[in-house]
Amino acid sequence: MTGDESVQRMEFMLTLRRRGITDQAVLRAMDEVPREHFVDSRFADFAYADQAMPIACGQTISQPYIVAYMTEQLQARSNHRVLEVGTGSGYQAAVLSRLAREVISIERYRTLADAARARLKTLAYNNVEVISGDGFAGEPSRAPFDRIIVTAAAESVPQALTDQLAEDGIMVIPLGPPEGHQELARLTKTKGGWLQRDNLIPVRFVPLLPGKAREL
Ligand code: SAH
Repeated sequence: MTGDESVQRMEFMLTLRRRGITDQAVLRAMDEVPREHFVDSRFADFAYADQAMPIACGQTISQPYIVAYMTEQLQARSNHRVLEVGTGSGYQAAVLSRLAREVISIERYRTLADAARARLKTLAYNNVEVISGDGFAGEPSRAPFDRIIVTAAAESVPQALTDQLAEDGIMVIPLGPPEGHQELARLTKTKGGWLQRDNLIPVRFVPLLPGKAREL
């Protein structure tokens, strides 16, 4: 690491703390995962700036604060199996892999799924599995999941994901229309199978789209 890089990484961690991230395990995970490997090489110099950035297929890697905040709200523990919908760059999956036992991440663009899988393998995040598929369907063969995180905005909670959430499980999902007001929601599955919804913060995510992407 050059002097500049280490200053940038220090500021990155300070920003997360200043914006209110307090969970030490989450902060450690954010400190450990090298974000420069997940952004487009053209933007490598800005890898530690607190901003979202474009990745392939017209998608985005989320802003680090939002990644940390969603991770904190998810309360993933070392015995948990986590489902992520929207692998994108694989950055959020890498952060979660430091906290949970296993992460299964679904991406509708094969190009992004393949790139993320290769990147995570190179970086030895061996407890992450990337699947190319439609996150609306979840991954029933691997359910139930202790935690589910969705990193694209849905108009309403996909039923398959609710079904695949374990009892006492937590799902963090942005809810709202594509260009309109979206709220990050935390859903907790009670013993009776009911979902308790807590609205957390307003957010702006790319939309959760149905089906596998058709690619050129
Ligand atoms: N978590 C990512 C950011 C994801 S951006 C990261 O850390 O980089 C949202 C991603 O969700 C996009 O890559 C988009 O292609 C994907 N997506 C949208 N709808 C989907 C669906 N139905 N199933 C799976 N992935 C989906």
